[in-house]
Amino acid sequence: TIEFVRATQLQGDEEPLAPPPQTQAQQKESIQAVRQSLPVFPFREELLAAIANHQVLIIEGETGSGKTTQIPQYLFEEGYTQKGMKIACTQPRRVAAMSVAARVAREMGVKLGNEVGYSIRFEDCTSERTVLRYMTDGMLLREFLSEPDLASYSVVMVDEAHERTLHTDILFGLIKDVARFRPELKVLVASATLDTARFSTFFDDAPVFRIPGRRFPVDIFYTKAPEADYLEACVVSVLQIHVTQPTGDILVFLTGQEEIEAACEMLQDRCRRLGSKIRELLVLPIYANLPSDMQARIFQPTPPGARKVVVATNIAETSLTIEGIIYVLDPGFCKQKSYNPRTGMESLTVTPCSKASANQRAGRAGRVAAGKCFRLYTAWAYQHELEETTVPEIQRTSLGNVVLLLKSLGIHDLMHFDFLDPPPYETLLLALEQLYALGALNHLGELTTSGRKMAELPVDPMLSKMILASEKYSCSEEILTVAAMLSVNNSIFYRPKDKVVHADNARVNFFLPGGDHLVLLNVYTQWAESGYSSQWCYENFVQFRSMRRARDVREQLEGLLERVEVGLSSCQGDYIRVRKAITAGYFYHTARLTRSGYRTVKQQQTVFIHPNSSLFEEQPRWLLYHELVLTTKEFMRQVLEIESSWLLEVAPHYYKAKELEDPHAKKMPKKIGKTREELG
Ligand code: ADP
Ligand code: MG
Repeated sequence: TIEFVRATQLQGDEEPLAPPPQTQAQQKESIQAVRQSLPVFPFREELLAAIANHQVLIIEGETGSGKTTQIPQYLFEEGYTQKGMKIACTQPRRVAAMSVAARVAREMGVKLGNEVGYSIRFEDCTSERTVLRYMTDGMLLREFLSEPDLASYSVVMVDEAHERTLHTDILFGLIKDVARFRPELKVLVASATLDTARFSTFFDDAPVFRIPGRRFPVDIFYTKAPEADYLEACVVSVLQIHVTQPTGDILVFLTGQEEIEAACEMLQDRCRRLGSKIRELLVLPIYANLPSDMQARIFQPTPPGARKVVVATNIAETSLTIEGIIYVLDPGFCKQKSYNPRTGMESLTVTPCSKASANQRAGRAGRVAAGKCFRLYTAWAYQHELEETTVPEIQRTSLGNVVLLLKSLGIHDLMHFDFLDPPPYETLLLALEQLYALGALNHLGELTTSGRKMAELPVDPMLSKMILASEKYSCSEEILTVAAMLSVNNSIFYRPKDKVVHADNARVNFFLPGGDHLVLLNVYTQWAESGYSSQWCYENFVQFRSMRRARDVREQLEGLLERVEVGLSSCQGDYIRVRKAITAGYFYHTARLTRSGYRTVKQQQTVFIHPNSSLFEEQPRWLLYHELVLTTKEFMRQVLEIESSWLLEVAPHYYKAKELEDPHAKKMPKKIGKTREELG
């Protein structure tokens, strides 16, 4: 068991309104009754009046008050979609966009994709008829490319603004500008109860509309001592809550798919072993790549007598509200991108969440009744180790993507772009340098023809460059597959606990000399040859869902090839060409083997091949990696063996022959005198 101590209480409102209807029967009774029970409903008229009177309105309201699902509907009912105009509502997360759109379609009694739809990268569920468009913030950003003044939109609602994702932050600057020359455009910025004053200031002191929350008090408990293994601690605590606490569902916050799947498996395993000694516990995961039928399950009411435990990523912090949660279990971590502008290295890291985050999480327990939040860390750690708020993404990510997009929109002076919080100067500079090295910008920082094509593809500049380069190396068929597989990476192979040996053998059978990109290509090719069979996936320990997604992504990318003037061609088994095309995009991500292990070529950072890689034992001299993931070490994930001479071939302006010489091959002559550069 884990010992918790009760420390503080998150205050509720003095007189919480009645909880919303909960039982299945009540829910069925009338969807309208549910809509009318939401905190935003009593403010409908007032809110519509405020929107009519102001061009920009900041809307602040507790999570679950109905901002996302109700406000676009109010606008629809009020006639904002007449004359073919549309309403956009942005979400930082794909799952949220899908799930919320599905909910709203149901409330309006229409088929998803008709009047209400969603649009996320590689998945467009909208049609000519769609007037309420839920979309990721990244997708709205891309809309600017085809419609720079957003002329077909009457309202843009930037939702979950407090998340401060990179794309949301960029949208702020662009929308503020559009609003100046489109006075009839309505801009709504919706946020949980955080940061609203800042948004107001940014939008020239736009008024803030507050929707009073409905919140019950939440008791907060901390562990007595720090927990070494938070995953194990989570599982133990869930069972502890299940056995000792009265009815009410549990929400657990973990950091990503792998962790969530592991926790769910452990929980199911232990429940099975306890058998009828405990009440039924429904274990439900929710994360970004979860298929939509599984996503919908978290919203189904818990059957009487049972208890539901939802194991979620940050998505459940503010984007989704699950009814019936009384207990929150918070290990205090989240997965965050971090970026070092000095070295240009980006990595995903599990880091402690902020206090603001921890409090949002705790708040999820107090929506339907008084709740409890169990934090798997000590009160001291909360006080002394957690940051107040999360640093906005724009300050901890690479900006290549966004800079390319802004350049395509004709915004040249990035240093003076209207940022809510500016990115570090070095990061901007490095993005420009990187785009120059990729051939997307010329030496004046202007977009090149190749840069314009790169911006057309909805993927990272390096991946775009790789796709463009496949024209030169006549291998676009293979490169499309690699690109599609990389975009669903890490969820290709299935490794059930009870069949680890079989699963690992199956994986090794796909290995090809050259590296992981070719392994991915091999898996896809064999799957295609099987007729895209699910049985084949099952037999080979490959995740069918991921493959299906890869196929979708591949089809979409293929559809864009013509626009970027790349013809379909195959390398006919000459994988050197495929590897060169990949190198043409990823020459920034290279490492070489030195006496003390792998070092990145330019920055001389120590890095390691991920143990899952097909090259883990090969240890080639030169390689490139798709991404770096920091866990216990800086691991390179998806690595490909290359030859140093290719780097000169694909990026002569970036690499000098000298820095690619092998220090072990021949002893460097002792330096005599100064070099030309040093003499100036
Ligand atoms: P907010 O945006 O203010 O956080 P939402 O509009 O997302 O609030 O949620 C309003 C209500 O709709 C919540 O009570 C939530 O439980 C419910 N809801 C949202 N999505 C779904 C769904 N897919 N299924 C069932 N209920 C949902
Ligand atoms: Mg919302």
